[in-house]
Amino acid sequence: MTEENSPAGSNIDKKPIDQDDYFMGLAVLSKKRSPDPDTKVGACIVNEKGQVVALGYNSMPRGCERFSWSKDKSKHLLERKTFYVCHAEFNAIMNRNCSLENCTMYVTLFPCNECAKLIIQSGIKSVQYISDESAEKDQYKASKIMFSTAGIAHSQYESTKTITVDLFETDDNSDENQVANPENPDRNE
Ligand SMILES: [Zn+2]
Repeated sequence: MTEENSPAGSNIDKKPIDQDDYFMGLAVLSKKRSPDPDTKVGACIVNEKGQVVALGYNSMPRGCERFSWSKDKSKHLLERKTFYVCHAEFNAIMNRNCSLENCTMYVTLFPCNECAKLIIQSGIKSVQYISDESAEKDQYKASKIMFSTAGIAHSQYESTKTITVDLFETDDNSDENQVANPENPDRNE
């Protein structure tokens, strides 16, 4: 996403980011913690007050971290990730710190049928997702059938923005900071 509409030289970072961008951004940040080398997924669950109540990413179960992430179909199923991996939605639901009744899940990939069942049973009422790349597979069609039947709102997330997270960003206006960032004077305004 670009900031095409912002006037040149404006300090866009001083404006708060949109609430939905914030929650989906947390899901995107969470997926960066995933050890899966092929498919990284993140999820963020938010309650009706707009409070984040859980985050998650796909991982192996605790104690099983050394299991293979292989998807190689020439290998026996017991030697692939399929039976073992905890999906991001599953982990986020397990990580909750309160009831998930009427919550919204922001997730980077549309949920599989197993996660869809968990989402429904947890009380989550709405799902926003970025990618729907497996929409043609039956298990994802099953998710949509279940969501529609159970009254779970689900829609693909649309944003025109890119959020950049700079861990070294500072609002410090000290002289020391200005010296430290001579090529970015706007940051010190
Ligand atoms: Zn799943």
